[in-house]
Amino acid sequence: MTSHPLGAPWVRDQLSYRTQPLNEKRTQPEGEFVLYWMQSTQRLDDNWALRYATLEADRLGRPLLVLQQLDASYPHASARHHTFLLQGTRDIAHRAHALGLEYQLTFSRSRFLAPPVERLAARAALVVTDLFPTWGVAERSGAFAERAWCRVVAIDGTSIVPSGTFTREEYAARTIRPKLLKLLDLSLERVEDRAPRKPLPAGIRAIAGSDEVDAGSLTDARIAQLVSESRVDHSVGAVATHGGSRAADARLAAFVDGALADYSERRRHPSDEWGSSRLSAYLHHGHIGAADVARTVLERAPRAAADAYLNEMVVWRELSLNFCLRSPDPRSLLALPDWVQRSMARHAGDARDFTYGLDALERGETHDDLWNAGQCELVTTGAMHNVVRMLWGKSVLTWAPTYAQALEWLVHLNDRYALDGSDPNSYAGIQWCFGKFDRPFAERAVWGTIRPMSLVRARVKYDVAAYLERFGMRKGELALR
Ligand SMILES: Cc1cc2nc3c(=O)[nH]c(=O)nc-3n(C[C@H](O)[C@H](O)[C@H](O)COP(=O)(O)OP(=O)(O)OC[C@H]3O[C@@H](n4cnc5c(N)ncnc54)[C@H](O)[C@@H]3O)c2cc1C
Repeated sequence: MTSHPLGAPWVRDQLSYRTQPLNEKRTQPEGEFVLYWMQSTQRLDDNWALRYATLEADRLGRPLLVLQQLDASYPHASARHHTFLLQGTRDIAHRAHALGLEYQLTFSRSRFLAPPVERLAARAALVVTDLFPTWGVAERSGAFAERAWCRVVAIDGTSIVPSGTFTREEYAARTIRPKLLKLLDLSLERVEDRAPRKPLPAGIRAIAGSDEVDAGSLTDARIAQLVSESRVDHSVGAVATHGGSRAADARLAAFVDGALADYSERRRHPSDEWGSSRLSAYLHHGHIGAADVARTVLERAPRAAADAYLNEMVVWRELSLNFCLRSPDPRSLLALPDWVQRSMARHAGDARDFTYGLDALERGETHDDLWNAGQCELVTTGAMHNVVRMLWGKSVLTWAPTYAQALEWLVHLNDRYALDGSDPNSYAGIQWCFGKFDRPFAERAVWGTIRPMSLVRARVKYDVAAYLERFGMRKGELALR
């Protein structure tokens, strides 16, 4: 067995670096079962929280129930997000059947008055849930753990290298990279998937109440019906990207066999739809595990291409997770380094060449057709190419009346429309536009010493013609699409 640099057997010890107790209550000996409340790691393969719950269930001699509850209470709940999430539940149900695991989906068209997790937890010995700093998960779990009668623990199933390895905020990709790479191979150990020894007695599922939906038999038509009846934002409609682990696996396979070998070059072209993996929405909801992606990429890609890809999917993604776990408020300008604070103070009153309100931005009605096209891609497909996304974020910094307003609007637009929104990457990516993880540049109006990016120069650097062809639009058109 491999050893952790600290000396402990790493494979077994990984779990301790992933575990965060959410209250100080005991595991209840009279509890009838262990409950895994699945929130952000929406899969049964390569799932550390499930692994922990299974080990505890066997240790306590109790059965295990996996619960997922969906209602309209998550941030920016919409027909788009709801459809993607429900599509994911179907794959979980099928996998649960194959593994002999008990999985229950409960669904409410508005908000649960008494959520099923509360009803079930009242009879559980222990509740295990996912550790995730955004999408409302940390707040929801914290409030629940305070009320629960038993021990509640959160397990990190998002990172490849356990997030608990880093106890402080890392400042840049260059500081976290060597630490991550040192532990990467050890962390890629597969998680054992199996059902606990004790079967769940009949009657336990009924405790959740009458809101159970048979996820395994959900058809696309039934999903559309459930979504249409839900009190979510219907102005943000479902998109073609299909949720779920099977769709994620198919996307990964197509990317690995297609563009991955030329990833460094092809990801730079906004018009190349297949130039990047487009896995971010699946990674965000845990429909696919990052370790699974990394193993596939390492097995099947030339080393240079694998390294380039893992620099994004491991280094930048885990830097973002570290930022959201360790920074007191990742969605505030206060999260920015001192040199940015000084720059913003010096340039707060600079005259902006263009200013727009949130409405104009949301409708993609600015003077720049490339920016508008990016907004159109976001609104109509639920995604935006990384190159355009950087330009999109940087431009709003100079077009909003204040830096704080720019940050707030970017968070709103990103999280409302993007299927990968409300992720640690969302706030790290947006804050990067304001100088986070970066260095100072030469002083300019409005930008101050923050790295500038120009939509005009982007047209020279990238071939944007095909992108504009696809997503370019006339004023007012977006509202009609
Ligand atoms: C303003 C702005 C907002 C952003 N908002 C989000 C967001 O809401 N959700 C999100 O997942 N990413 C966000 N990003 C980061 C990045 O744009 C996306 O992760 C990437 O474009 C997703 O496409 P892909 O899956 O094809 O990426 P690929 O190039 O195939 O990369 C593979 C994976 O690596 C990770 N990754 C790639 N680039 C980054 C990055 N710069 N930072 C952190 N992780 C990265 C993602 O998980 C991605 O799926 C944002 C970036 C900016 C500049």
